[in-house]
Amino acid sequence: MPAVSRVLVVGGGAAGLVAATTLRKRGVEVDIVEINDHLRPLGSGLTMMGPTLRALHTADEEALAACIAQGAGHDRMIFGDAEGNVLEDLTLPKAAGADLPAGFGIMRPLFWGLLAETAERHGASIELATTVEEITQHDDSVEVLLTNGDRRRYELVVGADGLHSKVRALVFPDAPEPYYSGQTVWRAVVPLPPEGIDYVSMYYGPRLKAGLNPVSDSQAYVFCVENALRRPRPPQEQWPELIQEALSDFSGLIGWARQQMTDPELIDCHPPQILLLDDPWYRGRVLLIGDAAHSTTPHLAMGAGIAIEDAVVLGEVIESEPTLEQALKRFMERRYERARLVVRNSEQLGDWEQDPTVPASEHARLTDESMAALAQPI
Ligand SMILES: Cc1cc2nc3c(=O)[nH]c(=O)nc-3n(C[C@H](O)[C@H](O)[C@H](O)COP(=O)(O)OP(=O)(O)OC[C@H]3O[C@@H](n4cnc5c(N)ncnc54)[C@H](O)[C@@H]3O)c2cc1C
Repeated sequence: MPAVSRVLVVGGGAAGLVAATTLRKRGVEVDIVEINDHLRPLGSGLTMMGPTLRALHTADEEALAACIAQGAGHDRMIFGDAEGNVLEDLTLPKAAGADLPAGFGIMRPLFWGLLAETAERHGASIELATTVEEITQHDDSVEVLLTNGDRRRYELVVGADGLHSKVRALVFPDAPEPYYSGQTVWRAVVPLPPEGIDYVSMYYGPRLKAGLNPVSDSQAYVFCVENALRRPRPPQEQWPELIQEALSDFSGLIGWARQQMTDPELIDCHPPQILLLDDPWYRGRVLLIGDAAHSTTPHLAMGAGIAIEDAVVLGEVIESEPTLEQALKRFMERRYERARLVVRNSEQLGDWEQDPTVPASEHARLTDESMAALAQPI
């Protein structure tokens, strides 16, 4: 018997949709409320590392297969210089099994759509353009007032409503505010290069590093992290010029891709914010997961990964533990240290990028150590 039988998930992003799937698979009734009137967020590509594939595989094998089929799998990572010369060609470990790729890239709207289809296939209900207005805790239930006027009771409310979580504001009013990392992340969707690529890549220039990752059989995205906080964000019509300038030291593959970056609609300018809530991420019958509890910079490409892992572990502890209190305690034992590692080590890598005295070997050491720790079972 699962520790709860009726759950409200607030937020239809990666964390909320996968949590709905893992809970439904254990027979728990799940409603999702999503503030937007659609589940197709804007945005460019996402890259999923081995631990993320493994978590998705545990959540739903069919969903992972669809993501790989509609995205682009990869088994290798190339490191190169600003001219595009390959300095190292790494075969990546296959964390999710020998018959699956080591990682994959996919366009964000497509990924969210596939996760939503999966949650619905397992019987979760998704109510769009709806959110929570009030949350009142009782000993045996939690009462919510929704913006559509409904007043309902659940045994657990999961706040999976992202960085600016309303659930966090309602239930954790003393939580710290997210803060800017000092850098700006640029992403641009480009056609897959004519020669085709089946690897993810990172090229080191004199001012910044940039990578190109495939996300489908016809598209890739280029990313770079600029050591400047573009806040407020510059007007979107300036984005092609600004990203092209940031990448002007590169020739080779990135140089080719730079010439494709002419449409501001295909470019994303994002100054990431950092947040790590202290343990525990629950109060009474309300739990925060995903970016609502921990938001990271992209240096380890694991933000969605740890959000999805939260969702997988939530399903497991709700099944394995006899009471909700024990389930939430066990959840924190399994989740806090991994999330802390991703948030703090990503932040450290970003800080080092802004300090030219830190040698590249230090970046490589911390990245390798982090990836080795994240390869451990969750
Ligand atoms: C530019 C960029 C690139 C990234 N690249 C990667 C990558 O390559 N790999 C990776 O692993 N991670 C990446 N990340 C991080 C990743 O996107 C996040 O960590 C992940 O989306 C977190 O999932 P989530 O479900 O917790 O939150 P979100 O994805 O933010 O989802 C929250 C959901 O809740 C909804 N919501 C918000 N407020 C409310 C409310 N009050 N009521 C109801 N619903 C609400 C939102 O509309 C949204 O649907 C990237 C992030 C950014 C910004």
